[in-house]
Amino acid sequence: MIKLQNVSKSYMSPNGVFQAVAPASLHVEEGDVYGIIGFSGAGKSTLLRMVNLLEKPDDGKVYVDGQELTSLSKKDLRKARQSIGMIFQHFNLLNNRTVAGNVAFPLEVAGIGKEEREARVRECLEIVGLTEKINSYPSKLSGGQKQRVAIARALASRPKVLLCDEPTSALDPQTTRSILAFLKEINQNLGVTILLVTHEMNVVKEICNKVAVMENGHLVEKLSLSEKEIAP
Ligand code: ADP
Ligand code: ADP
Repeated sequence: MIKLQNVSKSYMSPNGVFQAVAPASLHVEEGDVYGIIGFSGAGKSTLLRMVNLLEKPDDGKVYVDGQELTSLSKKDLRKARQSIGMIFQHFNLLNNRTVAGNVAFPLEVAGIGKEEREARVRECLEIVGLTEKINSYPSKLSGGQKQRVAIARALASRPKVLLCDEPTSALDPQTTRSILAFLKEINQNLGVTILLVTHEMNVVKEICNKVAVMENGHLVEKLSLSEKEIAP
């Protein structure tokens, strides 16, 4: 479902060229909840953002659902991104729009008509259990509720893949568990493939069936986790 082939990324720094991600390859199969774990600064976020080309790789190929993304035109890339949802550590909601307005936003951008849009907004808010907050503004919501709105927004365009960038790092342990439970449900019930980066081992233990370790820009180890192996 996601295939990275030797993708790499460097930045200019005051000390010269800094390699945030050394040539990395990764294969995420359909139905996986794939975790990438590592310390802050390891390059996880950069690697994740190369999957939907929020960060353009210096080199290498990115395949999502069979389509190679780095060679697409802007227009085709915009279309391909419809099947890739993303959520962030700090939720990235639009504070001047209601919950409905936030969830509807990607659908408006995609030019989806009002009726279909509103049906999907309701459907996605139901999935995350926030129907009663449909007309609230983000400032009135808790962190966990904000992340649920962000999940609903990510699901609105019916993605095949969900990218999660430290999805629970701003949340307390109890809220973390409930968000992870939602992600697991979305993976199991909607068949959405999940690629998640985190610095928290408990997140990986809780929901991932595969894990890779990232260190200083290098993917150093890839493991398959069976239920037994990851039991605490
Ligand atoms: P992680 O997600 O593992 O914390 P990141 O991918 O965010 O790591 O960052 C990896 C390294 O690349 C860090 O040292 C960071 O400072 C650097 N970096 C990330 N984005 C940029 C950028 N836009 N410009 C310069 N350096 C960056
Ligand atoms: P805001 O600008 O505060 O986000 P709007 O009323 O402009 O609120 O609505 C923004 C988007 O949310 C529109 O695309 C609209 O179709 C959708 N929307 C608004 N209210 C609802 C609702 N009750 N149910 C479903 N979708 C809604």
